[in-house]
Amino acid sequence: MQEFDLFVIGGGSGGVRAARMAAQRGARVALAEMGALGGTCVNVGCIPKKLYSYAAHYGESFEESHGFGWSGEAPSFDWQTLKRNRAIEIMRLNGVYEKLLAGAGVQLLRGRAHLADAHTVEVAGERLRARHVLVATGGAPHPPEFPGHQLALSSNEMFDLEPFPQRLLVIGGGYIACEFASIFNGLGSRVTQLYRGAQVLRGFDDDIRAFVAAEMAKKGVDLRLNAQVATLQRGAGGLQARLADGSVLEVDAVLAATGRWPNAAGLGLEEAGVHLNEHGAIVVDGEFRTSVPHILAVGDVIDRLQLTPVALAEAMVVVDRLFGSGRRTIDYENIPTAVFTHPNIGTVGLTEAQARQRFGRLRIYRADFKPLKHTLSGSVERTLMKLVVDDASDRVLGVHMVGADAGEIVQGFAVALKAGATKAVFDATIGIHPTAAEEFVTMREPVG
Ligand code: NDP
Repeated sequence: MQEFDLFVIGGGSGGVRAARMAAQRGARVALAEMGALGGTCVNVGCIPKKLYSYAAHYGESFEESHGFGWSGEAPSFDWQTLKRNRAIEIMRLNGVYEKLLAGAGVQLLRGRAHLADAHTVEVAGERLRARHVLVATGGAPHPPEFPGHQLALSSNEMFDLEPFPQRLLVIGGGYIACEFASIFNGLGSRVTQLYRGAQVLRGFDDDIRAFVAAEMAKKGVDLRLNAQVATLQRGAGGLQARLADGSVLEVDAVLAATGRWPNAAGLGLEEAGVHLNEHGAIVVDGEFRTSVPHILAVGDVIDRLQLTPVALAEAMVVVDRLFGSGRRTIDYENIPTAVFTHPNIGTVGLTEAQARQRFGRLRIYRADFKPLKHTLSGSVERTLMKLVVDDASDRVLGVHMVGADAGEIVQGFAVALKAGATKAVFDATIGIHPTAAEEFVTMREPVG
């Protein structure tokens, strides 16, 4: 039986990173993947989503160009071209991942892996011994439970949908629901988004939630709050969604973006003694060890933060613990994130509500303005920027933005927050003019 120092199950962001880094440190490493390399992020998540978000922005960019003097025939959108070009790019990335693994000396095994016992992994009928096992199997869309939910699609299927949905119903109010509502609205679908609660994007700053919901509605998304689907069925003119209030919506496709759950079932984990929590996520300690210490887990399957850069950071901690100095840690505070709605959200640190609970007295700075570009573009899009500051220490606790390139802007400010920057440091920083980002260093008066 072949023997490895590390056997990685799952070739997504966390798994590939851990395998490569461990092999580069001299470990004998194998990685098993049953699908395409790159996992959710590369194949049906971050990357294709962002490409489609770029595509969706062109529609309004053409409109906006008139105010700058451009004219010409109204352009049309070809869904087949976008799908084809995306597929080619994703295949290229799959190849890059394969080369990276091969270059590092990782043995790649194709097939579904499961634990035959705590030190033996079985893949495609072959049994291999492992000193350490890393489970990085990610997550999968969790469907809602109303009658007819089987007719709804998950985000996995949206990228290759055929035909292009002229009328799309999106269920949910999280990252995926809001991003896909924005994207398909931008590409030309008539989008209705239903969220069961009072405001989308639970967990984000309340001002950001309200502002982005209003901006999405201005762009044409029919966002309905406190709304639920009761049943879904096929009708003569399309899919018919009966809502809890009795009204009926007829659409061409339904996307259920109602959360993603860990992929931990059927891997032989529990039989090997690995504990899962009530959501089916693998329970790990601070060094990503499961209840069986030589079996570790990172990424979406541990259900902490379902974000690619977090999985990468967790993988680095595991490799350092097993094959390096053992000193590397991960800090879950001040993790920046973006939501690729139109316009984008970028955020790092505490929301106003979280900060008030932890710190008491705050100073809040807010700027809500029409970006320079839209003085000529004719667009009614506005930008919101907000700083949450601890009054006692002057430390900036939260940086929040809705506006073009919010993720690009907030990434830099995340460094400042990590460094413990105070509002005085923000004030002493010279702005870059004319940008939207300069607002973050020129907000002088707190709001009442
Ligand atoms: P989220 O957990 O973010 O959102 C799920 C949404 O579905 C919530 O609004 C939730 O409502 C709602 N919901 C859950 N169950 C039901 C139900 N039975 N009926 C109706 N509504 C329901 O999950 P997503 O699927 O949007 O995304 C999964 C994760 O992937 C995200 O949390 C994020 O970590 C990651 N991701 C990150 C992206 C990025 O970085 N840009 C992009 C996409 C995904 P409620 O709030 O009431 O619970």
